[in-house]
Amino acid sequence: MYYKENTLSYLNGKWIKASEAKTDLYSQTMHYGCGVFEGIRSYDTADGVRIFKAEEHYQRLIYSAKKTHLNFDYTTEQLVKLTYDLLEKNELKDAYIRPLVYVNARMDLTPSANSNLFLCAWEWENLFNNKVLDIMTSSFRRPDPKSCVVDAKVTGHYTNSILATTEAKINGFDEALLLDANNNVAEGPGANFFYQKDNVLYTCPLGNILPGITRATVFEIAKELGFKMVEKYFTIADVKGADGAFFTGTAAEITGIKSLDRVDFKLDWEDTLGYDLSRMYQRKVAHNEYQEFALV
Ligand code: PMP
Repeated sequence: MYYKENTLSYLNGKWIKASEAKTDLYSQTMHYGCGVFEGIRSYDTADGVRIFKAEEHYQRLIYSAKKTHLNFDYTTEQLVKLTYDLLEKNELKDAYIRPLVYVNARMDLTPSANSNLFLCAWEWENLFNNKVLDIMTSSFRRPDPKSCVVDAKVTGHYTNSILATTEAKINGFDEALLLDANNNVAEGPGANFFYQKDNVLYTCPLGNILPGITRATVFEIAKELGFKMVEKYFTIADVKGADGAFFTGTAAEITGIKSLDRVDFKLDWEDTLGYDLSRMYQRKVAHNEYQEFALV
């Protein structure tokens, strides 16, 4: 499903069939989770295929590599160009793009001298198939920023995310909501979190979360729409029974949330500010008509 017989991927300067791409089982990334990656989307817009916020994503990839001491010397310009080539070679338009920087064989816990760049892409609809979600407070927490580089997209951090999502699914929920080390609400396993109360939108400040590019876009859109947005720390008790809530992320886009720990949010998703933002977001990313779009 991620690749077909003739799908091409990029590996260290070469275009190779995804089905023939290989890695070393002694790779430090495989054993210790020391690699970095990105999740990016392209959309088939009125002006042709466009990668959404490509530069921001590649700046974050370079930042993540630097913070984890990986030697990685591609520029954002090179990475953006390679990504457009990847889409063209695979005739992809609405696609999800996965750059991965991983390192070579090394078992002694010291930095690896070289890194590898793998780029692949596939068609992927909204992560949650546009479902309005029932979520649960996770028993897992976001990693303490003092024990990891929390604002970098490091492969190893995602064990925590997978544990949280799996726990939620085993318990009959669609997704998890994780707290930070101080018991404040942080984010989802792969998305940032917002809630609405009395016509104000709240989200936590940076510090314990991945600084989402979609999150930043939602700030921009909210400003244009005149929605009040407040960054502050809050608890599960503040969120439960609020008017509405949603997740934001490249894969999730803007996904509405119906309930937290089986307590419904007061408003139907379609009546929330999040829903207006999600419509505007879709216009912005997919149609490039964002500026002219008026909410009715
Ligand atoms: N938090 C986490 C933990 C994530 O994995 C993601 C997805 N990259 C996000 C937030 C949202 O980030 P973005 O909007 O840049 O995709």
